[in-house]
Amino acid sequence: MEYNIGDIVRTKKVHPCGSKLWEITRVGVDFKLKCQGCGHVITIERQKALKMITKKENNNIDNK
Ligand SMILES: [Zn+2]
Repeated sequence: MEYNIGDIVRTKKVHPCGSKLWEITRVGVDFKLKCQGCGHVITIERQKALKMITKKENNNIDNK
């Protein structure tokens, strides 16, 4: 699957804030993901990110 900046993805792990949805803010060797619940940003190796992501949500969910 291909990922682009701005995509909303769902992950296996639930963030402590309760959200499973993340926005991709950077793609490359590392991915940057922004939690849609609390705004926390994580940087994660591409391979790990690909394993962690279970689903790409429709990225026209534009709730903010
Ligand atoms: Zn969060």
